[in-house]
Parts: sequence; structure tokens; C-alpha cells
Amino acid sequence: MKPLGPIPDGYHAIGGQLAIGAQSARDLVDAAGGTPLFVYSRAHIDRRVAALRAAMPGQLAIHYAIKANPFPPLLAHMATLVDGFDIASGGELAIVRDAGVDLADVSFAGPGKRDRELEAAVLSGITLNCESENEAQRALAIGDRVGRAPRIAVRVNPDFELKGSGMKMGGGARQFGVDAERVPALAKAIIAGGADWQGLHIFAGSQNLDAEAIAETQGKVLDLADSLARAIGAGPLPKLNIGGGLGIPYFAGDVPVDIGIVGDRLGERFADLPDSLAQTTMAMELGRYLVGEAGVYLCEVIDRKISHGEVFLITDGGLHHQLAASGNFGTVVRRNYPVAVANRFDAEPVETANVVGCLCTPLDRLADKAFLPAARIGDLIAVFCAGAYGATASPMMFLGQGAAREILV
Ligand SMILES: *Cc1c(COP(=O)(O)O)cnc(C)c1O
Repeated sequence: MKPLGPIPDGYHAIGGQLAIGAQSARDLVDAAGGTPLFVYSRAHIDRRVAALRAAMPGQLAIHYAIKANPFPPLLAHMATLVDGFDIASGGELAIVRDAGVDLADVSFAGPGKRDRELEAAVLSGITLNCESENEAQRALAIGDRVGRAPRIAVRVNPDFELKGSGMKMGGGARQFGVDAERVPALAKAIIAGGADWQGLHIFAGSQNLDAEAIAETQGKVLDLADSLARAIGAGPLPKLNIGGGLGIPYFAGDVPVDIGIVGDRLGERFADLPDSLAQTTMAMELGRYLVGEAGVYLCEVIDRKISHGEVFLITDGGLHHQLAASGNFGTVVRRNYPVAVANRFDAEPVETANVVGCLCTPLDRLADKAFLPAARIGDLIAVFCAGAYGATASPMMFLGQGAAREILV
């Protein structure tokens, strides 16, 4: 037997079945027209954003990084809750535009921006978080050509990283951002080139549950921003995106990050900012923390087999929708996500079963040796923590399977 990850708060049983909001898993599947299905809960997201706002200093803007989940109805809901959006491609710009998001509150990071993406960004008035000198020069040239001053910030590759992060995105040689020591010269060139100077973006890591490590990194981000702003010498920094990093528990033993500690420590720093940052608009950008636990992936048991004494529950879902749960999206050792038999949610576990997908590869595992209620053909399997990096971060075209259904309730 191998442990399952912790089921997030906010899920309970109705008539023995997993309920999301007021509806049972079976009713949701019927309403959506079948499985595999991602269900995202508005109420869950609302509670999460409210708790975060209550913990963080009032002047900290909350941005949503849409790569976590760009489902249009969810984005439209996020637009009522957050202060801005972070995108990472021209395709995501089209998605936020279609969702009716205020483009003045959108910033565009990510390496390898093509000229047509830069042009679309300049014309739409979003902020470019430039990832290199070359990119900044191309953005300025495009601004001259189309007759609009590009709004430009510089993404900094800091000399430190967020310790213990699931994904490291700063510290040492990286494809992200501009090495800190070259940022002042680049920022001066951007300002001299006639851009609408927006400030700095410093992102040091992701998926972190250690509040002390996050607080310490945020302190370093503020120190670095202060020294860079002074070296740039163009007065107080207009904006600072301090990155994100708040993670969610996926695996047995993971404990939720204590946002009270993060907020208190940030509040202490905000109360005592240097002149260079005293008037700066501060933002934090989060993806999975806002939406990850608000999503559940539901699939149906198509077959039940025994092989060498082990039970296999074979579902119509799999890694083509939930790559991360299969352990193939940035994890070193495969561990089980939280998984349940959705239509037997309050039944006692009685057997050890392997929950697998329908793809013809041994990588397609949703839970290994999980202790579960006895599931039969036609039952529903729920994989939790499916609100982020699921539907669009999985190879849905693999084996001709196609997309899952998605609903927001
Ligand atoms: C992916 C990404 C995020 C979101 O990360 P989460 O772990 O989902 O919060 C935020 N900012 C940048 C720059 C990113 O690349």
C-alpha cells in the first residue's frame, strides 16, 4: 500500500457521493454529458482568494498566472476576484482578451516571444516583462514602427532561489529573465528608448509550502529591487512583481503553507520600505495556489482486472488530462495525488488497487497501490488538486484521446 495525498478542504459527501458545491459527482457528470470531466468550484476559489487577501498586506495586488488554468469561464470568474493577470504567450493574450479582462492589468512574461506576439502586446497596451536585451530592443523597434510606446518591465534572474521549490526558476544560469547585474544598463536603455517604464518582475520559484522560506525570499526580492532601482537611477520604481511561490499540498505528509506568516512578514517589510520602493505598486502572481485545489478530475472505471494478485482499476481518464498526477510533470519520485472513489466517498477502504488510465503506456497511472473502497465498473474515480496544470498541461492529443470536458460550478 502507498499513501494517497491529502484531500483538500471543502469536499464532503452528499448521499454517499463526493459533492462539489451542492451537486454530487454523478449529477455533475450527467450535467456535463459524461467523463472524463474537470469540475472547478467557484466557491472554493472565492474562499481561497478571500483568505489570501485577509492574510496579505492591503496594498499587495494579487495577480493570476493563467497558465495554471485558462478555462474561459474560470478566467471570467477570476476577473471578478483578482487585480491582474499574468500571461506567457500570444495565445494566452488572445484568451484573456476574449474573456473580457482589462488589458491594462495584464503582464506578459516568458522567454522566446516572437515579433508578432510583441506587436500584439504593444498594440493592446499590456506590460511586457522582457526576458532579454534582444527582446527589449525588438519591442522598442516595434513600438517605433506602430507609433506606440511599449509598456516594459524587466524580468530579473535573481542570484538566489526559493529554497525547496517544486520548480526552480531563479538562481544561477536560467532561460528566464536578465541576470541581475545587467538589469540597470538594460532598464536605462529601455527608458532612453522611449518606453513606458513599468519596473521589475522577480520570480524565484514555485510550489513551495515553507512559509519561512517564502518570506525570506520575498525579503531578498525587496532588497534586490531596492538596489536595482537605485542603480537604474530613474526615481522610485513604478511597479514590482514580487513573484509567487505559494504551493498546495499534493502528497501524503504535505502541510498547507502558513499564509499568515507570509503575510505578516511581508507587512513588516512594507511598513518600512526604502524611498526607492515607497510608492511602488506591489503585486504577487499566483497560479496553482488560487485554483489548484478548486478542481477535481472525474473519470469512470471501464474495466477491473487482477494481475499477479493486484487489482487494476482501468479508467477512461489518464495522463493525457492529468499528466502531473501520473508523476510525469516535474516530479523526481512518483507519489500519489489525493484520489477517491467518488460515488463511494464515505465508504470504508477495503482493498489495495492501482488506478490507471486508458493509454497504452505503463506511465499512465493515476494512483499506485491505493487503499480504496471496492470499486466496480461504472464507478467514478476522483483525482483532486486538478484545478491547475491539468487540462492544458497534459498531452491530450496522445493516442488520439482528445480533450476532457470542463465545467465551472
Ligand atoms: C508558472 C508561473 C507562475 C505560476 O506558478 P504557480 O506555481 O502555479 O503559482 C507565476 N509566475 C510565473 C512567471 C510563472 O512562470
